[in-house]
Amino acid sequence: MDSEILEQHWLPFTANRDFKREPRLFVRASGMYYWSEAGNKILDGSSGLFTSAAGHCRPEIAKAVNEQLLTLDFTPSFSRSHPGAFQLANKVAALTPKDLHHVFFCNSGSEAVDTAIKIAFAYHLARNEGQRTYLVSRERAYHGVNLGGTALSGMVKNREAFGAVMPGVLHLRHTLVPQNRLTRGMGEHGAELAEDLQRFVNLVGEKRIAAVFVEPIAGSTGVIVPPRGYLERIREICDRYGILLVFDEVICGFGRTGQPFAANSFGILPDIITMAKALTNGAQPMGAVAVRDSIYRTIVDAAPEHATEFFHGYTYSAHPAACAAGLSTLKIYEDEDLFAKGRALSPYFLDAMFALQDLGAVADVRGYGLLAGVEIKPGRVPGARGTELQAKLFDRGLHVKTTGDVAIMAPAIIASRADIDQMAAILREALAQY
Ligand code: PLP
Repeated sequence: MDSEILEQHWLPFTANRDFKREPRLFVRASGMYYWSEAGNKILDGSSGLFTSAAGHCRPEIAKAVNEQLLTLDFTPSFSRSHPGAFQLANKVAALTPKDLHHVFFCNSGSEAVDTAIKIAFAYHLARNEGQRTYLVSRERAYHGVNLGGTALSGMVKNREAFGAVMPGVLHLRHTLVPQNRLTRGMGEHGAELAEDLQRFVNLVGEKRIAAVFVEPIAGSTGVIVPPRGYLERIREICDRYGILLVFDEVICGFGRTGQPFAANSFGILPDIITMAKALTNGAQPMGAVAVRDSIYRTIVDAAPEHATEFFHGYTYSAHPAACAAGLSTLKIYEDEDLFAKGRALSPYFLDAMFALQDLGAVADVRGYGLLAGVEIKPGRVPGARGTELQAKLFDRGLHVKTTGDVAIMAPAIIASRADIDQMAAILREALAQY
């Protein structure tokens, strides 16, 4: 692509000057692979951006979206709708645990998080507890980039340029404790860090916290699997003080942990689940928030008859094309029994990732399900090696998302053992150079 055409597009979360000097563009994708502009075939080690769990360019999804756009391209989302929205909400509700059966649609993970914040506040107001103005999240958390999610964020670079966007957010300590280094699955150490929540209650008052936001496995920061007993303790403290527990499953949702949601895998029932990404296999932008029936009923029933109950929503909430993509995606997951396949593939994948620990450059490996973080020892500038590694991997034919000095591995659920072997081999070759 000509260099002058590269200037106008300002890439998100990117070193734009570097990119424009040495652009790495994908021009095509299929199954487990991308193709670069230069014609190189590149294995996808991160399911795009944790999106494409069923592999790229699924014809079923493309067909469903195409047909939808030729039949009904758009419906106003306020006070009007279309059948696909209800069908998809039903399908999502069939996958969520217990009674998280009401689904609010939006267009991204960030919007799902900000929607969940508003639902939490609206819920407490409807039950005359509007004084619950605090939110709790965690250090190293990633909850998207809208203003609410930025306030919840526990990653300094995602916060520091943007002022104090929202007061009243308290951060629990993260659970990446050194004692759990090189632990496969849930570590034995760190459950006591959940007591930070009790300390916040003691600090601000028993009825001041509206909700706690937790990524069941913190993904974007570099994969932090919760220690055994940690989520249980968070749930207990929430229950004791009437605090809502929100699982942000934008990465974990739809099979990444071997079950529809990490809530299923870890056996913890949150009050709200946020999701996006693999909901449509990445083929259309879409996010969603599933809430327990009691939350929906409390907000809806508190409003007078004929009145709008919740003053929130997007022009593109439940967009027909996104719903068509979602329905087609969930059908693929079901027809191909992909969540069970992911469960079966996980030990092989984790073996391959943990086998890299013999390399001198590897500082830590952690993982659960089909999600793993391979952390390399930092160079003089933290994060620089991670960026360099990503470029080296790309040039060797592997696409991987890195954060700081961590390569975040998240293969599509359709990956074969040979795909996993190839990912591990390319990683090994690149890491051996440090
Ligand atoms: N929440 C979590 C846990 C995420 O991992 C992400 C994105 O990676 C988001 C929210 C934001 O999603 P989006 O980029 O679709 O806005």
